[in-house]
Amino acid sequence: MADCIFCRIASGEIPAQVVGRSEHALAFRDLNPQAPTHVLIVPLRHVDAVRDATGEDGAVLLGHVFQLAAKVATDLGLDASGYRLVSNTGREAGQSVFHLHVHLLGGRALGWPPG
Ligand code: AMP
Repeated sequence: MADCIFCRIASGEIPAQVVGRSEHALAFRDLNPQAPTHVLIVPLRHVDAVRDATGEDGAVLLGHVFQLAAKVATDLGLDASGYRLVSNTGREAGQSVFHLHVHLLGGRALGWPPG
């Protein structure tokens, strides 16, 4: 989608601090980090949110996103301490960019429940 910021990052049109990639997904650092490690993992194909990743194609897409998230967490040394993966869906959950993404948060103790 031409007006989608994460599509433009995924295509390389807008620069980002890329920390991992696969054939189907890209991982880059969040511009406004909420933890020492804060990475976003996005599918290259545009899907608005998790609820739109339907059917077999959606299942495969989610699998690629989560597999890349786990690989990046390992590469960034978070396996021992732990980390959180979260995908805000819809406005009340705080979704502000409507291209499916998973936040990878780590490097500090994370409170629960989240605010
Ligand atoms: P959410 O609020 O769950 O939709 O998350 C969107 C995230 O995208 C926020 O944490 C923003 O800081 C982040 N963000 C927005 N624009 C960019 C960008 N150009 N590069 C990196 N992160 C971004």
